[in-house]
Amino acid sequence: MGTATPNATSKETSGKITAIVGANWGDEGKGKIIDNRAGQSDIVVRFQGGSNAGHTILNPYGKFALHQLPSGIFYPHVVNVIGNGFALNLEYLEREMQSVYNQVPGLDLKLMIDIRTQVLLPHHILLDTLEEKRRQDREFGSTKSGIAPFYSEKFAKEGLQLNELFDNVHLKQRLKEIYERANLILQGVYKHEGLDYMDAYNSLCRLRKEFAENYAADVPKFLRKSWQEGKTILLEGQLGALKDPDFGIYPYVTSSSTIAGFAPVGTGLPPYAVTNILAVTKAYSSAIGAGAFVSEIFGEEASTLRERGGDAGEYGATTGRARRVGYFDAVATRYGVLSQGATEVAMTGLDVLSYMDEIPVCVAYEIDGIKTADFPVSRLLDKAKPIYEILSGFCEDIRSIRRFDDLPENAKNYVKFIEGQLGVKITTLSNGPKREDMIAF
Ligand code: GDP
Repeated sequence: MGTATPNATSKETSGKITAIVGANWGDEGKGKIIDNRAGQSDIVVRFQGGSNAGHTILNPYGKFALHQLPSGIFYPHVVNVIGNGFALNLEYLEREMQSVYNQVPGLDLKLMIDIRTQVLLPHHILLDTLEEKRRQDREFGSTKSGIAPFYSEKFAKEGLQLNELFDNVHLKQRLKEIYERANLILQGVYKHEGLDYMDAYNSLCRLRKEFAENYAADVPKFLRKSWQEGKTILLEGQLGALKDPDFGIYPYVTSSSTIAGFAPVGTGLPPYAVTNILAVTKAYSSAIGAGAFVSEIFGEEASTLRERGGDAGEYGATTGRARRVGYFDAVATRYGVLSQGATEVAMTGLDVLSYMDEIPVCVAYEIDGIKTADFPVSRLLDKAKPIYEILSGFCEDIRSIRRFDDLPENAKNYVKFIEGQLGVKITTLSNGPKREDMIAF
């Protein structure tokens, strides 16, 4: 590696960097896996998405749904970092930190935010809300966190970077320009009266003084140095491969890349530094928002799985909405794992399946009478019907089991079957929502 890239430190002397990303539609349990692994890591970095994320963590301090804070915050030795690819809502972040401190007084939370990270503004949330309303029954199922307008403006070169908050004259001028354009859209398209840029200015000045200036830093510089010093770094993805704007079920996707390949872009690390990619998948499927979901189940069958899923049922960590649920979709997950370039897979929620006598797994789709094991483009996905293979259930509570060899035979078979379907090794197995609910191989 040292010879291929003149300025790179050799693999032997650089740290281990693992991107932990979703193989599906999000909500795979990435927060739990990161909270579990952060104990042996030095740094955890969020590299895309924003407060639309809801990473649930159950640890000795209690239960948390983290939206913007990285999932390593509960370890005093871990530096938690928000990278340049993130959609930073300072007001929500201040509130989230306050709520964590209320729950865990005295928590030694180390946070760093890159100076080039762009700041999400109130008009992004308003535009998101108005656009969902305009679409009526064609709505995306947005969390209304402002994410789509935020990234649209970022790439239209209308965004505001964190460092711009540190010069009042400059900030006022930039906000005036940003709101001139935003108000044209608000008034012209949505018949809204528009917003006063001075409200955003006053609020950002307060947030900078009371809060943001304590955390602003040159993150790429810090991360490259840490990597060269041999630090262990986790890059925390949000949502999953099927919500990626390029590879996902477009247009029912999110507005920033959920793919591990984006992690170097969203952090400033060299692409060749990310040597491990852990794709997280659930032992069954769940999705929030609109878009095709081939192995989705409905009615009582769905409510039973929904109530037994997750830590307290499958309900959105950000919105509280009931998640759509279904059987494990091997076609979609294999595609998700490949899109992520996964070097290993973590499976969560194996315990949830303990009530099933038989466990269906979707192994292929039928589209216009033709069977395929390849994940199709969205236009064809809408016509896909699931083809199931039925595996025997294990029908016993497995939450207290800690070693793979101690699992019931049918649970082992299920994991091995899925591994065979995915073609990538399952190295991590979770059998409960708590930090310690892990099965060693
Ligand atoms: P994330 O966004 O990928 O971090 O996932 P969420 O936190 O949105 O959703 C995952 C849900 O599954 C949460 O309710 C977790 O507490 C829960 N969870 C994670 N791992 C397991 C597991 O192994 N078993 C069970 N029953 N729940 C789990």
